[in-house]
Amino acid sequence: MEHWLTKRAYLTPDNIAIELSNGETLTFAQLYERACAFASKVYTVHQNGHIAMLSNNSIDMVVAFWACTYLNVPVVFLNTRLTTREWQIQCEDADVETVIYADQYKESVESLALPTYPFADIDTFKSSACTLTTDMDLNSVCSLMFTSGTTGRAKPVIHTYHNHWSSAVASALNLGLMPNDKWLACLPLFHIGGLSILFKSVIYGMPVYLLERFDEEKVHNAIMNQDVTIISVVAVTCSRLLDRLADGYYPSSFRCMLLGGGPAPKPLLEKAKEKNVPIVQTYGMTETSSQIVTLSEADALRKLGSAGKPLFSASLQIHANNKTTKPNEVGEIVVKGPMVTSGYYHREKANKEAFRNGWFHTGDLGYVDEEGFLFVVDRRSDLIISGGENIYPAEVEEVLLSFKGVQEAGVTAIEDSKWGQVPVAYVVANEGVTAEQLLVHCSARLASFKVPKTIYFRDQLPRNATNKLQRHLLQS
Ligand code: ATP
Ligand code: MG
Repeated sequence: MEHWLTKRAYLTPDNIAIELSNGETLTFAQLYERACAFASKVYTVHQNGHIAMLSNNSIDMVVAFWACTYLNVPVVFLNTRLTTREWQIQCEDADVETVIYADQYKESVESLALPTYPFADIDTFKSSACTLTTDMDLNSVCSLMFTSGTTGRAKPVIHTYHNHWSSAVASALNLGLMPNDKWLACLPLFHIGGLSILFKSVIYGMPVYLLERFDEEKVHNAIMNQDVTIISVVAVTCSRLLDRLADGYYPSSFRCMLLGGGPAPKPLLEKAKEKNVPIVQTYGMTETSSQIVTLSEADALRKLGSAGKPLFSASLQIHANNKTTKPNEVGEIVVKGPMVTSGYYHREKANKEAFRNGWFHTGDLGYVDEEGFLFVVDRRSDLIISGGENIYPAEVEEVLLSFKGVQEAGVTAIEDSKWGQVPVAYVVANEGVTAEQLLVHCSARLASFKVPKTIYFRDQLPRNATNKLQRHLLQS
């Protein structure tokens, strides 16, 4: 297939590819030219093998990424929030040979035992004579991306061009594509929720409104005044946006707030419904190159709380005891489709566990209703078993979040001599909210074994770079 960016720059050269909040823009033709120029400079120091990229969202990062695709060099994305030691480990895990980085990380990368080059230095290199990719081999590796590390040590996921292509196409077949679409990216590009927007942009010919990170004011303003039509969010950022919106309304051209990455609490979905905010829940992961199950806009209100149906070309089953479950019965979510990774890089044991009979086992629990809509229950690893009863932390968190004044909630287990495990809750709440009130609220809505034994108030909860709750760090 002709290189996507080359094709896009040929089809719609003057359309906007990237827009920043300071008004700066880059057209597809400019992005193409800069990417090709940068590629021939990178080639001076790196010809093949894995290259790692360390950067926050920026035009330079987007240019550098597309440059690597022109060299057919797989990009290993490093999370900017990790320590130098962790980058070193990830570079070793992913067989990285060279690191390129945004200039601000100069000091942090000094101790890496690898050649490292800041973007600004590469820009000053002389171009080398090299052959840039004209036709992409869709089966070659495009990126190696570490999972978010929400449950522990992150695993490197292999993404081919075909995975990314299938993901972008499947998303458009569900959400549709409007001529005025503009997708706001405030999730880090080093995670799949962010990176997948870059492929959509080039494949669809759609501008990306790129923010360095989630910033309530900037996002609000972009939706209200900058004609953004779609945005990807996680629950906590969605909640902040709804608070910021207060009694106002978004423009009618704003058509989709794509909510994924973690549980979608019912109170949040209901609040959005009240404010006419078009939330569409999605379920996906690094291993599925972003969305694999998404609600359609038409079902969004009727099936509030569901993550939808598997996208076109993807399939889903729920397995329990090696069998497919009946409707409404909880089991492990297993998926397959062309957007699903072929595996983790050099993780034989994890691959053996995850891939069985052609299905990828997600480690998430859920059920489908009679109509085939998926409801994600929780991660299997976060399941609390108390006196033989199952407790899904997400269910308890949802109840806590439905109490007025509770902003964030996280539930985890502590050991208990009588019950094995019991749930405890960590809460960020407005002044005046007391543990007694929350316990009364929970007791009225949950079986007694699900009611947290203790409620701890915190100023903030541990979250990763995508603002996902890290339950395993709640107690530290
Ligand atoms: P790690 O695998 O390293 O622990 P992670 O699973 O958080 O990190 P990602 O690939 O970014 O890494 O996230 C995918 C996970 O996020 C899913 O497996 C699921 O647990 C959770 N998730 C995604 N969408 C939803 C959703 N709609 N509802 C509930 N959970 C979701
Ligand atoms: Mg995971």
